[in-house]
Amino acid sequence: MEQSLYDIVILGCGPAGLSAAVNARIRNKRVIIVGAALCSPPLHKAQLINNYLGLPGITGQELLDSFMDHVDKMNLERTSMKADSIMEENGWFKILAGEEIITTRSIIIATGIPYKETLPAEESYLGKGLGYCATCDGPLYRGKDIIIIAHSSEAEHEANFMAEICHKVYYLPLYKGIGVLDQRVEIIYNKPAKILGQEYVEGLVFKDNQRLELDGIFILGGETSPERLISGLELDDKHIKVNRQQETNIPGIFAAGDCTGAPYQVAKSVGEGQVAGLNAARYVSEKNFVLSHR
Ligand SMILES: Cc1cc2nc3c(=O)[nH]c(=O)nc-3n(C[C@H](O)[C@H](O)[C@H](O)COP(=O)(O)OP(=O)(O)OC[C@H]3O[C@@H](n4cnc5c(N)ncnc54)[C@H](O)[C@@H]3O)c2cc1C
Repeated sequence: MEQSLYDIVILGCGPAGLSAAVNARIRNKRVIIVGAALCSPPLHKAQLINNYLGLPGITGQELLDSFMDHVDKMNLERTSMKADSIMEENGWFKILAGEEIITTRSIIIATGIPYKETLPAEESYLGKGLGYCATCDGPLYRGKDIIIIAHSSEAEHEANFMAEICHKVYYLPLYKGIGVLDQRVEIIYNKPAKILGQEYVEGLVFKDNQRLELDGIFILGGETSPERLISGLELDDKHIKVNRQQETNIPGIFAAGDCTGAPYQVAKSVGEGQVAGLNAARYVSEKNFVLSHR
């Protein structure tokens, strides 16, 4: 497992995260952006943006390309993976992302619109046979039967990992265009409807009423709900509660963009990202936390 140290880690590479990164970098902080391979699925899908000042008629993809180009010109470090969880330890935050641990003084959460449940009451089965990170919980399912409900191709890597240790791995894609899956993984094309089991997961019922007995269900590749990232983070309904400095209730953790609430728009995300980037930079400077810049 690799370890690395930063002043500020930005979770999410949409407009909010990229804006935060540029501004924190200008304040000479050691910054890394942790985001999915496709930055900002919503912006990628937007066919026409007419409300971003100075750029009428631009497509979402064109705007995203110019944001990425800006970030690349500033040599900002970026890694294509999603954060699974955050822990606090002696004034440092440790972010678990796949096989890596990233250690930092400050975090800006810019993970987009909060995750909505895929299955009814799924949160009540969390830790009772339902998980959101197969590589983290994998050993608990050695020799057992599991299903991976996948929102995107990011889940394929985890399915292949689970095929090494489980008795049976089913894979239910909720997206088009499956990549490379281990031969032992059985693909199911169906729609999941509800979890079976009183308290613990015992199986899954599909929309066509078929049933599958299971020991575990993993829901992967979707957006991350903020409360799953770090416990104790204060929410306002499903959104992260922030003040005008984009500070959350946890000192050192800031949030920006769609994850803090409506309006869900690019300009609001870019603006909040800027405020979060500047305030996170000020936070690490004031605490004398700054690492020597590379
Ligand atoms: C079809 C469509 C049309 C739109 N049209 C317009 C428009 O015309 N004008 C306008 O202003 N807005 C428009 N929007 C909205 C706009 O795209 C969003 O408001 C904007 O992209 C939000 O930026 P963000 O950075 O907050 O989040 P996002 O762009 O959603 O980026 C969040 C990123 O964080 C990543 N992420 C999630 N969880 C994690 C994790 N645990 N670790 C690391 N990374 C993570 C996600 O994969 C994603 O890449 C449109 C959206 C859609 C879907």
